[in-house]
Amino acid sequence: MAFSESVRREQAPVTCNLCEHGTKIKWKCLNCDLLMCAKCKEKIHVKFKSAKEHTVLDIKQVGLHRKELDFSDLKCTEHSGQSCVMFCTTCDKLVCTSCISKFHNGHGLVDISEGYNIKMEKLKTEHKKAKEKIDELLKRQRELSHTKDNPKYKEILKRIEVQRKDLKKDVDKYTEELKGELNKKWSDFQVEEVIKVKKVVNNLQELSSSADDIIRSKDIKKLFSECAELSRAVSKADIGLSTISFLPGKMSPYIVGSLQALSNAVHIRIIRQFQTDTTKLGAIFLLLQTDNESICTIICVKFV
Ligand SMILES: [Zn+2]
Ligand SMILES: [Zn+2]
Ligand SMILES: [Zn+2]
Ligand SMILES: [Zn+2]
Repeated sequence: MAFSESVRREQAPVTCNLCEHGTKIKWKCLNCDLLMCAKCKEKIHVKFKSAKEHTVLDIKQVGLHRKELDFSDLKCTEHSGQSCVMFCTTCDKLVCTSCISKFHNGHGLVDISEGYNIKMEKLKTEHKKAKEKIDELLKRQRELSHTKDNPKYKEILKRIEVQRKDLKKDVDKYTEELKGELNKKWSDFQVEEVIKVKKVVNNLQELSSSADDIIRSKDIKKLFSECAELSRAVSKADIGLSTISFLPGKMSPYIVGSLQALSNAVHIRIIRQFQTDTTKLGAIFLLLQTDNESICTIICVKFV
């Protein structure tokens, strides 16, 4: 929507915009958009904030009259040949009489000049916001270009370092625990082994001595019936004797941590919503899901 500006010459005498009675206009400040008499320029305008930097021109250079806005040349984009007569605040657009009777009846209609002010204010606000955004982003960019001084970078570096120390501490702690465990297991194991070995040795000794008897006595019956028992006991003597071994765990980069690129724009969508039957207390439970799929529950309690 283009507003056309044209210069309209006013007929009424122009007075100084500061004292409002001096008619001998001598200066115009472009920054303040003020017409001034010679006296006001010297006495009043100089006191304005950073007045020294203002561009104050001789009125002969710029002309006496201000630019006036002309809203008469705004053509309706939907009805050819028609001029816009109002601004619809409901639809945020300029409208002609046909527009009004067809679509905008009952809408918030205001004068074009008022619409102009509304739009101008909006534009100025957005303009200001854009400037702030630019400053903010440029600041961020400057921070990013100085990697070593970037607070976020420093913070992450610090946290990685903390993690390194914590993990080292944990490794020492678990190592000591494992040594303690080995010590205990080893003594239990020792006791068990001694008992087990003693039992096997006793059994073998018994069988050996009866073998001695058989060899000496050449007892045929016993030779045929007991020889197998001794060879079974000999072959089983090693079985059942156990030992303890160490199975080393593996360190992985994931245990130290990983880096993730995160967007600061979090899109949240509501999956489910519940409401209680309680009359005095209305509680709304929201089950939310964010972009990275983590689910959280927010409980809003409202007294009714
Ligand atoms: Zn004056
Ligand atoms: Zn000024
Ligand atoms: Zn129209
Ligand atoms: Zn409308």
